[in-house]
Amino acid sequence: MSYIDIVPIGKIEEAYLSSLKQNLYQTFKVQTRVRKHPVDFSTVYDSVRNQYNSSGFLVQLIHDLPSETMKVLGVTEMDLFIPIFTFLFGEAQLNGPGAIVSAHRLHNPFYGIPENRSLFENRLLKESIHELGHTFGLIHCFNLRCVMNTSTYVEEIDQKSANFCKACEQEILRWRNEHLVD
Ligand SMILES: [Zn+2]
Ligand SMILES: [Zn+2]
Repeated sequence: MSYIDIVPIGKIEEAYLSSLKQNLYQTFKVQTRVRKHPVDFSTVYDSVRNQYNSSGFLVQLIHDLPSETMKVLGVTEMDLFIPIFTFLFGEAQLNGPGAIVSAHRLHNPFYGIPENRSLFENRLLKESIHELGHTFGLIHCFNLRCVMNTSTYVEEIDQKSANFCKACEQEILRWRNEHLVD
């Protein structure tokens, strides 16, 4: 059996992980599970930026993948960056096994407004689907409602849906037909 593994990096509330587990299964029709994986924070932490290098986490996530793991999604509350960007909501390997999302800037309190749990959950789901979409070979989509539309600001995440547009949906189906027997 093949799985999408959800790997918490640092502390993540259990309820958010189980909601992701359920919703990602609904979206990709691939079994999902939450798995622990050892991650070394010290090598990816940048003390000047007070952020964590996203690509450094990705490399660790895809190291020693269990044979039944099809895709792995790291989920963290840490603030992520790569050198050319001040921050990232997430990063993924196009057509590869690994993706990571950061919840850090998806919480309302980050922007000085009270937490809204369902809104947060929704944002985390959209960004998780988006990054996993890349691992299934999808590139950015111009359809503003499509989950593969790119988001620079949290408002843009709120404007798009958690669904693939028709064209992206077709791409996912094509991927499934090529890679999954039955
Ligand atoms: Zn993207
Ligand atoms: Zn699309």
